[in-house]
Amino acid sequence: MTTPPSGSPTGQQPEAAHAPTPLEERLIRLIEDHGPIRIGDYIADALGHPQYGYYISAAPFGADGDFTTAPEISQIFGELIGAWLIHSWEEMGSPSLFNLIELGPGRGVLMQDILRTAKIKPAFLKAMRVYMVETSGRLRYEQQRRMQDLGVPVTWASDLYDIPAAPSLFVANEFFDCLPIRQFVREKQEGKWRERLVGFNGQNGERRLCFLLSDEIYDTPEGAPQGSKPGDFFETCDAGREIVHALASRLKEYKGRALIIDYGHGRSGFGDTLQALRQHRYWHPLATPGEADVTAHVDFGALARAGRKEDILVHGPVLQGAFLARLGIEFRLQRLCEKASAKKAKTLRAGVHRLIHPDEMGALFKAMCLSSPGLAAPAGFGG
Ligand code: SAH
Repeated sequence: MTTPPSGSPTGQQPEAAHAPTPLEERLIRLIEDHGPIRIGDYIADALGHPQYGYYISAAPFGADGDFTTAPEISQIFGELIGAWLIHSWEEMGSPSLFNLIELGPGRGVLMQDILRTAKIKPAFLKAMRVYMVETSGRLRYEQQRRMQDLGVPVTWASDLYDIPAAPSLFVANEFFDCLPIRQFVREKQEGKWRERLVGFNGQNGERRLCFLLSDEIYDTPEGAPQGSKPGDFFETCDAGREIVHALASRLKEYKGRALIIDYGHGRSGFGDTLQALRQHRYWHPLATPGEADVTAHVDFGALARAGRKEDILVHGPVLQGAFLARLGIEFRLQRLCEKASAKKAKTLRAGVHRLIHPDEMGALFKAMCLSSPGLAAPAGFGG
């Protein structure tokens, strides 16, 4: 997840050995009894285990945490998205009642900036019912604290299906990257694939989690491009496709749009993108489960295919830098700098640089929009 930190690239071993975390010990006992687990099950527990999961027990965000996200970097990110949402609502015919739904709101900073921007359009603000889809009790608490003084009622849900169907605008920033994936590795012979699983090695007190390959052999995974070579990795994310499916059913029933922003690749390709971040550095994904952020690149190609299959409109993915430029990030920066102290202006400029520069988040992160059939092309996607 989030902006590329300095340090070793994806998947390298951490420099120091770490004692097993309580979650690692628990997973090893589970694997001992029931056999190796899928990568996705590992991610689900590493992030969401009710007692030890990273989002449940840690304080991941910000300079003191393990990573930071676009809304945490600059208020302008949320302001531009707020303006994008107002525009989308108008293109939907300005419904007098609609859902504004955020998936995975983190600390609630993005929604805070969106709602502040929404004040420029009172009819929009009045029409919205805000829903936050969040599984972590700890983060819900932080979100509630942030939302309490904004004067807009907010409802929390654990699942999209709990939210009443209505015209809806969805926002998901850095949500899809924490969904469980599966990894397949191409065999030497016959183009067959094995699944990469999590097992353990060592004995007694020395047991540690490790990657291993399934005995079971698979045909080419759905969505894999032609031309794989032995040793290639291919990742699939059923949970991501299921969410697109759920969004599509909503968007076909009622008018709306879903804006998905995340780090990832535009086209399905080969590679191992499982990664972990701890204290703004890359970390071995199996090293300290529950104490590091474990994510994978979002395969926008697969999400786009899932959307098109459902006959909804798919725009993008486009690079985050280009998307924010089209929404007028430079103009907004200039306006804010005119009124800011020199110190504040410097921070604002640095934040924008980080969001849009291709060597920072501008090219690694992408934006994609799903829309109800019949809606105009959304702002920010070009053409
Ligand atoms: N959107 C935020 C933070 C993203 S971090 C930002 O831009 O700053 C991922 C968020 O998704 C966290 O809030 C995490 O608790 C939540 N999350 C992870 N898996 C989830 C799931 N399956 N359902 C709902 N929320 C989930």
